Amino acid sequence: MPGTSDVSHSPVIAEIDFEKPGKQFGALRVPQSRNDSGWGTISIPIVVVKNGKGPTILFTAGNHGDEYEGQVTLLNLSRALDPQEIEGRVIIIPAMHFPAALNGTRMSPIDGKDFNRSFPGNPRGTFAEVLAHYVDSRLLPLCDFQMDLHSGGHGMDVYCCTALHDLDDPAMMRRSLDMANAFNAPVTIVLKEVNAGPTLLAAAEKRKIPALSSELGGRAYVNIDNLEVTERGVRNVLKHVGIMKGTPAPHPRYGKSRVMTVPDFNCYIFVPRAGLFQPADHLGAMVTAGRPAGWLHFIEDPSAPPIELTYKASGLLWCTRGEARVQTGDPVVVIAQDRAS
Ligand SMILES: [Zn+2]
Repeated sequence: MPGTSDVSHSPVIAEIDFEKPGKQFGALRVPQSRNDSGWGTISIPIVVVKNGKGPTILFTAGNHGDEYEGQVTLLNLSRALDPQEIEGRVIIIPAMHFPAALNGTRMSPIDGKDFNRSFPGNPRGTFAEVLAHYVDSRLLPLCDFQMDLHSGGHGMDVYCCTALHDLDDPAMMRRSLDMANAFNAPVTIVLKEVNAGPTLLAAAEKRKIPALSSELGGRAYVNIDNLEVTERGVRNVLKHVGIMKGTPAPHPRYGKSRVMTVPDFNCYIFVPRAGLFQPADHLGAMVTAGRPAGWLHFIEDPSAPPIELTYKASGLLWCTRGEARVQTGDPVVVIAQDRAS
């Protein structure tokens, strides 16, 4: 393939020069063999904006295909960002797991994979695994900072937040928390995960890169209030890390980000049966243990009373169900509680 640079040990071809100053719109070309095109590829749009010698940040969205505040924000940022207004390098992938994003689904129609369960990937694996391997082994080593923009997708609606892990290394923890404070979502969720698993956030943390994940809304639509938080947030992070001039601007309505956590499984409610979930409270409400959290209805039997579900913990209603229809074992409530920051 003339005009492209191959990358050893990964079949992904980067049709972009990460070292070239200015702004480039390029592609990551990932092989995808088909019956009618054995050498077929899928190209994933990538944008690099570079000026001078400052740090590098990687912004990604569309890790899950049906999460949109991040995708819209990064599409807007790709067009708006002028190399002259930065000192450093900004790498932007607005729709990272491209087949899932094109399909408007969390997972890929190609291999059925959840991209955020595919790290550190495998250069000889499925589409998602090959791409995860490229992001982990080729893109992350270029980065000083990383941020992955998520929302709740079809399944969940989430109170707008950034998210990070409770890290053992206090200096890394401080740097990540400072980045979250700069982003300034209404809430910062610190998750205690001993084995954070095969996520992009964990891959970045393993490489000692200050990194954030986020949940910037949900229900597979664009929440305009959360979009405003996200657009402001990515610029705040660019200022915080010194790539853009200026100081992070606090949100006029929310003020300082509220640092919270999900301490245990009492904060979750999983439904005991399939049905229709009717919530009792709005997302973001302060709720009390022992009070009704919602009702599970059964369309097959109008004479059957709904099952009442009860909060087992008090706190902020951080996640609710996105779609009313639920299957046995689906979570419909997650409560967050204040954390000493
Ligand atoms: Zn997601």
